[in-house]
Amino acid sequence: MSFRLRIFALVVLVAVSAIVATAWLTLSLTTREVTRSQAAEAQHQDRIVQEIREYGLRHGRWPGVDQVVRGLAESTGLHIQLRTPDGTVLTDSDTLEGNTSGPVRGAALTIDPLPALDPTVRPGEPIPVRVGRPFALPADLFGSGPSPGAGPAERALRQAAQYRAALLAVRCMSDNGTAEPVLQTSRAPYLTRQQIQDSPKCVTFGTDKVNRDKVWLTEMVEMLSPCVPGRNDRERIESCLQQSFNRGLSGFAATPLRLFLGFRNTTSIIDLSRPALIGVAGLIVVALIGTAVIARRVSRPVWLLTEASLRLADGKLDVRVPIRGRGELALLSASFNAMAEAVQSSEERQRRLIADIAHEMRTPLSNLRGYLEGLSDGVVDPSRELFVSLHEETLLQRRILDDLQELALAEAGDLTYTRTSFDLAELASTSGTAHRAVAAEAGVELEVDAPGGTWVRADPDRMRQVIGNLLTNAIRYTDDGGHVTLTVRRDKFEAVLIVRDTGVGIALEDQPRVFDRFWRADPARQRATGGSGLGLTIAHRIVTDHGGRIEVTSTPGSGSTFTVRLPLDPWGGS
Ligand code: ADP
Repeated sequence: MSFRLRIFALVVLVAVSAIVATAWLTLSLTTREVTRSQAAEAQHQDRIVQEIREYGLRHGRWPGVDQVVRGLAESTGLHIQLRTPDGTVLTDSDTLEGNTSGPVRGAALTIDPLPALDPTVRPGEPIPVRVGRPFALPADLFGSGPSPGAGPAERALRQAAQYRAALLAVRCMSDNGTAEPVLQTSRAPYLTRQQIQDSPKCVTFGTDKVNRDKVWLTEMVEMLSPCVPGRNDRERIESCLQQSFNRGLSGFAATPLRLFLGFRNTTSIIDLSRPALIGVAGLIVVALIGTAVIARRVSRPVWLLTEASLRLADGKLDVRVPIRGRGELALLSASFNAMAEAVQSSEERQRRLIADIAHEMRTPLSNLRGYLEGLSDGVVDPSRELFVSLHEETLLQRRILDDLQELALAEAGDLTYTRTSFDLAELASTSGTAHRAVAAEAGVELEVDAPGGTWVRADPDRMRQVIGNLLTNAIRYTDDGGHVTLTVRRDKFEAVLIVRDTGVGIALEDQPRVFDRFWRADPARQRATGGSGLGLTIAHRIVTDHGGRIEVTSTPGSGSTFTVRLPLDPWGGS
């Protein structure tokens, strides 16, 4: 898999895991919280209603209910909100804790803080409400009268009066510093025996205030009048009594409230944040590991390459980097190895070249030195032949140096070619003619078979140099009476130039080496004939630079054949 694809896959993997994990976390947390909230609501709803109602009932008003709401929210883990019937928020557990108010469920529960009408209460209970005195009640309205045996309407009136009087009494006690401004009991008669005994003045104060409120008593009687047995069935009477009772007390008791429940903000945030933090930590770990893997995968080959480059620059030419996989980094590693290989072989070539040159120059220079020392010591007689020979030796050295320079230029790619379109056959004929005299001198018959029309696009001077080298060699390594043939012909898309001789030939194992520099089959003969050992190397370079090939086939003792193939010029001659 390519490097880019691997990075892409890893990043996608991390991103997908992050999205999946986030979605899973959100879903599971929401589900959990909803379930928990519903369970808590179901479990605690009755208790919350009961406690708040109890508070309202026993205080007769709502100030101070905040503490109850706060305590309930904490113990139940729910968000509690109380609103008045007109929708105004009376208190909110989230706001009480300094948080923004969280959501609540749509359905509200009504908290009615009015005391329930208690049918078990009988006249004559601790608070003697003297109904009818001084306010006279119609006798037929309450049946047999207000005393023992009083009817349900009278008992309801009495209980309402008791509740109102009890609230007044406890506030009086509170003003006197003997009690909290709260009823000790939520059931009629609302005051304990102890309170009645301890604070008779306050009890009387409350009782009197209620008994003297003729307007209220009249209203109560009017409201309770329709709730008479005999006229309605029992259920209707009870409902009628309760409604009248409530209406009668509505001006003195706490107002009914609407209770809303929901998710508790503070606890939930802490609860939510814990698994969310775990999730985030997990994601960070995954991201870190993923990044580390990517970083390692990226940096390791790069690091290896950097180290190898430094070592290469340091002269360690045999340094190579391992190639793993087939991605871009593997390609880069392979390129580096190829470069290192090229640098190393170039270095070796250079070293060999210097060694070859040194070796090549040493023998003739030693000869020259020997003869010059002999001449100066008078050991050797100065003769014309000797000077001619020494002159030839220096000429050979000069030729070697010229060839070397040319080869160096060719190998560096600096040999300039002036390409034109010309007929290779014609060039071959001219070269053949030029070598005819040398061939004749060597007793070798030179034959040229180049019918013409073989157009190539090349540098004619360099091609003449190649043909000249091949012909010189052919004549040089062919004995007296031998035969050299120069042929030029077309072969499909190539121009083929062949130099064939009937000379000494080249041993099979030496044939691949003829194009190596300074290689000679027989150094003694070559030196005698004045060859530099570089001619074929240069010829090979020139031909390959023209997009062609040069090959040799030879049979020792029978002769050699050098074949040059060059691409034909399709527009040549036109
Ligand atoms: P040189 O200047 O010595 O001829 P070349 O590079 O031209 O250098 O040739 C290299 C060697 O190849 C020669 O020394 C010779 O041994 C061998 N060689 C080249 N041409 C022929 C040939 N036609 N027949 C036999 N040997 C040849």
